[in-house]
This record gives sequence, C-alpha cells and structure tokens, in this order.
Amino acid sequence: MYISIASLIRKIAIEMTNIGEAFIKAMKDLEKNVPEIKHGLVKDPARKSEVVDMIAKVLLDVVQKVKGHGLAADKAAEVEAVIKNLQNRNDLKGLISYPFNFAMAWKHKVIQADMMVICSNCKTSFDWGGRPEIAMGAVACPKCGKAVDQKGNAV
Ligand SMILES: [Zn+2]
Repeated sequence: MYISIASLIRKIAIEMTNIGEAFIKAMKDLEKNVPEIKHGLVKDPARKSEVVDMIAKVLLDVVQKVKGHGLAADKAAEVEAVIKNLQNRNDLKGLISYPFNFAMAWKHKVIQADMMVICSNCKTSFDWGGRPEIAMGAVACPKCGKAVDQKGNAV
C-alpha cells in the first residue's frame, strides 16, 4: 500500500491536535476546582507548587492515556519530559499555556500538511503552499519543474 508523506504527516498532526484538545479539556476540568489557574497567578509559594503539581499530574495522566493509542512511545516520552521540566522549574504560566501552545502548533501543522501535494507527473510530494506561483494557481514541482496546481495535477 502506498501512503504519501503528506497524508502521513497530516495523520500524525491530526492525532497530536486531538491530544492537544485532550490537554485543554483536562485543564478546563481542573480549573473548576482550582480557580487560580484562570488567573495564572498564585502568590503563596506553597500553594503555587501545589497548583503546578496538580496541573502536571492531569497533563501527564492524558499522556499516559494516549500512549500507544495515537501517541508513539518516543513522542510520549518527549511530551512527558517537557511537562516534567515545566513542573521542576515551578513554571505555572508555562504549564497553563502548554496545552494551548501544543494544540495550536499541531493544528498549524495540519494546515501545512493540507498544502502538501503530490506532483501527478513525477509523484514527488512537496509543500505546495511554500513555493512561489509561476502561473495563475500553479507552482513549479521541485523535482520535475512542471507547473502543478493545488491538487497536484501537472498543468
Ligand atoms: Zn514533478
């Protein structure tokens, strides 16, 4: 079976975006019991550490849940390391913004992947949106140089 690089990137990006949404949901649920999250500021240092630990826990729980189901083990370890690093640095703001940044970054990759096309002439996959237009609605294929429209058809 032939799977294009573009569709593979897109599939991963969608899965990661879903994990980002799960992070956001977990954070919103926690926010109901921990109103300080909404303010992004905890003055009492002891309470701040407590809130940081609570956020890190719910995010790490999400990672555990999706590990092996949509999130490869090596990627899961990477995400865990980022969360634990924020926790160790007692970075409340970093932890609060992490789910949103994570989801946004991957959503952006889905949009980028949507701009990947496969040249109908030479079957090369390339980022259509990242290349200059050489004719109305067409860019040059980086491999064969043919003018290719947004669907990948050599025109
Ligand atoms: Zn081509």
